[in-house]
Amino acid sequence: MSEVLNVEEIFASKVFTLGKMRERLPKSVYKEVKKVMEHGGELSLEDADVVAKAMKDWAVENGATHYTHWFQPLTGITAEKHDAFVSHPDEDGKMIMEFSGKELIKGEPDASSFPSGGLRATFEARGYTAWDITSPAFLKEDATGVILCIPTAFCSYKGEALDKKTPLLRSMEAISQQAVRIVRLFGNDQATKVTASVGPEQEYFLVDREKYLQRKDLIFAGRTLFGAPAPKGQELEDHYFGTIRERIGSFMKDLNIELWKLGVTAKTQHNEVAPAQHELAPIYETANIAVDHNQLVMETMKKVACRHGMYCLLNEKPFAGVNGSGKHNNWSLGTDNGVNLLDPGDTPNENIQFLLVLACILKAVDTHADLLRQSASDVGNDHRLGANEAPPAIISVFLGEQLEDVVKQLVETGEAAHLIEGGKLATGVSTLPDLDKDATDRNRTSPFAFTGNKFEFRMVGSSDSIASPNTTLNAIVAEAFCEAADILEPAKEAGNFEAAVHDLIKEYLTKHQRIIFNGNGYSEEWVQEAERRGLPNIKSMVEAVETLTTEKSIRLFEKFGIFTKAELESRKEVLYETYSKTINIEALTMIDMAKKQILPAVIGYTKSLADTVIAVKEAGADASVQAQLLNEVSMKLAEAKTALQELENKVTAAGGIESQKELAFFFKDQVRAAMDALRAPVDELEMLVDKKVWPMPTYGDLIFEV
Ligand code: ADP
Ligand code: MG
Repeated sequence: MSEVLNVEEIFASKVFTLGKMRERLPKSVYKEVKKVMEHGGELSLEDADVVAKAMKDWAVENGATHYTHWFQPLTGITAEKHDAFVSHPDEDGKMIMEFSGKELIKGEPDASSFPSGGLRATFEARGYTAWDITSPAFLKEDATGVILCIPTAFCSYKGEALDKKTPLLRSMEAISQQAVRIVRLFGNDQATKVTASVGPEQEYFLVDREKYLQRKDLIFAGRTLFGAPAPKGQELEDHYFGTIRERIGSFMKDLNIELWKLGVTAKTQHNEVAPAQHELAPIYETANIAVDHNQLVMETMKKVACRHGMYCLLNEKPFAGVNGSGKHNNWSLGTDNGVNLLDPGDTPNENIQFLLVLACILKAVDTHADLLRQSASDVGNDHRLGANEAPPAIISVFLGEQLEDVVKQLVETGEAAHLIEGGKLATGVSTLPDLDKDATDRNRTSPFAFTGNKFEFRMVGSSDSIASPNTTLNAIVAEAFCEAADILEPAKEAGNFEAAVHDLIKEYLTKHQRIIFNGNGYSEEWVQEAERRGLPNIKSMVEAVETLTTEKSIRLFEKFGIFTKAELESRKEVLYETYSKTINIEALTMIDMAKKQILPAVIGYTKSLADTVIAVKEAGADASVQAQLLNEVSMKLAEAKTALQELENKVTAAGGIESQKELAFFFKDQVRAAMDALRAPVDELEMLVDKKVWPMPTYGDLIFEV
C-alpha cells in the first residue's frame, strides 16, 4: 500500500491564506486587510508593517530565507528578484530577519531590461511593483531554497502599466462596476460587486528529457522545426482519454501535490488527442488569481517534468501533423451575493436578466471580435488558429440549440414563448439509468462557446498568459453593460423598464445575431459564410496587432481606464518585436541545425552510399538500387542547401529593416516561407536516410517513447 495522502492537510500549506491571516493578525488589522481585499483602498503603513511581520514569521517558520515581488512583465511569463530577510547586524553582530510593510507594498526592481515598447527608455529605468492584496502570497521551494512570493503589479515611474496584471485588475473593476448597475436594475440591491471568474484548462506535451536535449529546435524554440511524421499519428484516437502510462501518472501525481500545496485546485487530468499530449484543469476562481495560478501551473509542470526525466513542452505547436495545445479559458460573472449572471436557470426564455446579459455579451463579442482574436494571439498560436485545427481564426459564438431558438423567437416576434427541452436520454439497457439530457449538445469547433453557465473561449494558446484574453473579455462586456445601463436606468426612473429592456434585448440580438454560429467551425463553407456576414478573419498574430489601436479600441480601453493610448501603442511595439525575435530565433536554429547537423550527416551518408555503389559494381553485381538512392538523396541535399542559403539571405535582409511593424511582416511573409522551404527537403531526407545516421531523435522517438 502506498502512503495515504492527506490532500486536505497539504492543500494551500504553502499559501498565506486568509485563514492564516486571521490566526496571526490582530483582529483590527485582519479586518482592514479584508476590507481592502473586498472593496479596494489602501492599508495604512502601520497595518502593512503588522501584515508584513506576520507574513515573514510564517514564511521563516516554513524555511523561507528570501522574499520576492513576483510579477508578470510583457514577456508573458513571470519575473522575480530575491531579497533575503537579512538586516543590519546590531553592535553585538547579531542579525534579525526583517520585512517591513513598505517592502511588502512596494518594490523597485531596476527593470529597464523588460519589454516596455518605448514607454520607458533605459535612462528612465524606474519601475515599481505594487502588492496585489487580492492574490495570496505563497512559498516557492526549489534549489534556491524557500522564497516568499508576493504577487504584484508592475508599473513605470509615470504609472503606466508595464505588465499583464495591472490592466487585468483595472478591467475587473470596470466589469464589476458596470455589472452591478445591471443587477441593480433587476432589483438586486445586496450585490456590491461582480467578479469575473476563470477556469483555464491547460494542455501540454511531455517528452523524454534525454531526447529533448538532442534537439536544438526544442531547446531554443520550444517546438520542432524539422521532423518527418511518424508512421502513426493520432488517427486511431487511442490516446484521447486513454489509460495514463506509469511514467506520466507519477508525474501527474507529483504535479498535483505541488499544485495543491500552492493552493491551486488541480482537479481534472487526462490524456489529450495527440500522442504525448495531456491536460490539467483546475477549478475556476477569481480572474486575477486564476491568471497567477495558471502561471504557477505552467512553471510547476516544467519543474516536475524535469524531476521525472522529462521535459514539458507548452508551445502551441510542438509537432507538425498532430494536434497542438491550447488553453480553454472558461469565463463567467458572479455577484458577491451568489448569483451567476450566466446561469440561464430552467427557463432561460423567461429569465430577462440572463437574456439581457447574453444580448450584451453577443453585442460585445460582435463589436470587438477583432480585439478578442488579438487577445488570444501569440507566435506559436499562429500554427493552430485557422490552420485546420481547433479553433478557426474567425470569432463566432456557439449558443446551442435551446438558446439559439430562444434568440430566434425574440428576434422574430419579440417574445420567446416556448423552450426546447432536454428530455430524457434512453440508454436502452434495463440496468442503466435513463439520463436527464442537456437541452444542448456541445460543439468542439467553436472558438467561443456557451457551456451551461459560462463561456468557454477556446482560442487561447497553451503557452500564453491568460491575462490578455480575460482583460479583453472584461473590458468589452463592461462596455456593453455600461451602454445598456445608460439606456435602462433612465427608463426605470421613468417607470417603463419592462418595455425598455424588452426592446433593448430585441435590438441587440437582431443587430448582432450574425456572430452566432452553431455549425462546423472547421469547414471551408464557414469561412465563406463568415465573410458574407462581414465577420473578421484575422489570420495571424502580426495582422491582429493593429486592432489594438483602432479608434474603437482606444475609446473602449480609455473609457474604462484599462489602457491609455500610449499603453496600447507600447504593447503593439512589444508584440511586433516579440514576433520578430521569436521567428529570428527559429530561423537561426534551423540554419544551425541544417548546417552543423543535418547536412553533414546526409553528406556522410552519400559518401557511404557512393562507396557501396563502387564496391558493389567492383564485385560485379547490379548497384542500380544503391545508385538510385544516392541520386535521390543527392538531389534533396542540393535542394536543402539552396533553401538554406535562401533562408540565410532572408535573415540577413531582415537586419536592414528599421520599423518594427515592417520587420514583423517580413518575418511572417518572407522568413517563414524560407523556413518552410528548408524544412520540406530535410523532412524528405529524413525518410530516405538510414536512421542510424540521422543526427537527432525523430517524431516517433519523441512522441511514442515517453
Ligand atoms: P466542461 O466539461 O463543460 O468544459 P468542466 O466542469 O470540466 O466543464 O469545467 C471546465 C472548466 O470550467 C473548469 O476549470 C471549471 O472550474 C470551469 N468552470 C466551471 N464553472 C465555471 C464558472 N461559473 N466560471 C468560470 N469557470 C467555470
Ligand atoms: Mg471544457
